[in-house]
Amino acid sequence: MSQTNVIQKIVIVGGGTAGWLAANHLAKNLITNSVNSIEITLVESANIPTIGVGEGTVPMMRQSLQHLGISETEFILECDATFKQGIKFVDWTTNPVAGKPAYYHHIFDYPKTSELDLTAYWLKNMKGSGISYVDALSIQGKICDAGLAPKMITTPEFQGATSYGYHLDANKFSALLAKNAVKKLGVTHIQADVVSVLQHENGEISSLVIANGENIQGDFFVDCTGFKSLLLGEKLKVPFKDKSGTLFVDHAVAIQVPYEQADAPIASHTISTALTSGWVWDIGLKERRGIGHVYSSSHTSHEQAEQDLRAYIGPISDGVDSRLIPMKIGYREKFWHKNCVALGLSQGFVEPLEATGLLVFDATAKMLAEQFPSSKLDMPLIAKQFNERVALSWDNVIDFVKAHYCLSKRDDSQFWLDNRANDSIPDSLQERLERWKYQPPSPYDFSNKFGVFNLENYQYILYGMDFDTNLTHFQHRLSQDELASKVFADISNHSDLALNKLPKHRELIDKIYQYGLQKI
Ligand SMILES: Cc1cc2nc3c(=O)[nH]c(=O)nc-3n(C[C@H](O)[C@H](O)[C@H](O)COP(=O)(O)OP(=O)(O)OC[C@H]3O[C@@H](n4cnc5c(N)ncnc54)[C@H](O)[C@@H]3O)c2cc1C
Repeated sequence: MSQTNVIQKIVIVGGGTAGWLAANHLAKNLITNSVNSIEITLVESANIPTIGVGEGTVPMMRQSLQHLGISETEFILECDATFKQGIKFVDWTTNPVAGKPAYYHHIFDYPKTSELDLTAYWLKNMKGSGISYVDALSIQGKICDAGLAPKMITTPEFQGATSYGYHLDANKFSALLAKNAVKKLGVTHIQADVVSVLQHENGEISSLVIANGENIQGDFFVDCTGFKSLLLGEKLKVPFKDKSGTLFVDHAVAIQVPYEQADAPIASHTISTALTSGWVWDIGLKERRGIGHVYSSSHTSHEQAEQDLRAYIGPISDGVDSRLIPMKIGYREKFWHKNCVALGLSQGFVEPLEATGLLVFDATAKMLAEQFPSSKLDMPLIAKQFNERVALSWDNVIDFVKAHYCLSKRDDSQFWLDNRANDSIPDSLQERLERWKYQPPSPYDFSNKFGVFNLENYQYILYGMDFDTNLTHFQHRLSQDELASKVFADISNHSDLALNKLPKHRELIDKIYQYGLQKI
């Protein structure tokens, strides 16, 4: 093997969540598990701030923290983290009625499994009866409504009575990941502005020039420079696939406010409230709420969007500064080109609904680390496979996010009407929705193993949003009504037990500060 094919030095540019997640995954796999001496350096500017938002995660983050050797107690204390059991969607399905918000939950627990297709039995016997889909098939919606935590103080780290992810302070999370990567996993950290990127004759990146004129050489580069995409986009000229014709929201205005009372309840789910030109996220940490209005600038002005946000929050936002965040909607045509991979916002982003950012970036950082080429000889085929899989993940995310908009029956603004225009809905999603008009979704509709959102996620959204599946030609297959009723009754009884046992969310967070969780 010639010297030029060896990959010994990996350089990551960017110290946001994506950069530090990449550093941790790569170091965990390549430094701690490798006999070859691989060096990993992360270069980050002290002058260009990180995006600083991204406060909701999905349950997969639990596995990542555990894998990277970060204790859950340490994480909760250092990142002001709280528990997230799903998303409560308010006013997404029908026009809002003043004083009567309508909602459904997309929870993290998968519906109870049984040899019966419980979704079909719910459609046949319970839809419209006043028992929502989520409450018929799981206890977690009721746990969220009661403001309860997903576990008790005696439940060991990373385990729960229900499935959960987290709400966290994004800047503190980057700092914790940085500490872990540098102190525990041997990553070198350099604070410097990259001012130019140099290439070999074959187009591969050879080194980075930093502001003091020094040169940082590498064999492999990871672009985590945020929306700028300094290496993959600007230098290697990999085009951007714009998806704003499907997903219209392109800006966010964000505010952080304290709780009105120090002991106010903390929601154990993200609250996503639909407005006329977008929606508001509302995330409860221990001491504050992070709230933002994500909107389409083609359908409203920035001034109006901020006013709508402040009206949602109420007087506690008076005099508190807001931050305007433009968003690029879409992804790169390739994520791995030559000796450079983009991770994080430089790879792609659609919008914060369903908290897909950290999910995709964490999963792709892990995929890169686990499949990292042993030399440049096997790089092209690994890159090809990586590009195909990551593109599939983004398309899957786009379909799922778009489903929330096009299933809505709202007609109180052009934004909602435009979202249902056929030419804005990907063919793949249109085909599925057409199929599900006549029979409920089935595992056969989800054959792609790398899809981020699967059968259960779609079921919660479809039937939370009152999607009409006509069972006329299907219900002859549903002859076990009695057994189905028994399973539904068991779920309901189990709910009552859990509701009596689990602590309030704030009470659990306070106890974790006092005693910590049991290590496993
Ligand atoms: C409005 C909004 C809400 C979001 N909400 C969620 C959510 O709820 N859940 C979720 O999972 N995700 C969410 N995301 C996505 C989330 O913000 C990102 O997943 C995450 O923060 C990753 O950002 P990043 O590290 O790619 O980029 P950034 O945070 O932008 O970091 C870029 C880094 O590159 C460095 N850099 C740039 N140029 C140079 C240079 N020339 N030299 C050296 N360094 C350089 C900067 O200093 C910085 O360290 C949201 C995103 C937005 C826009």
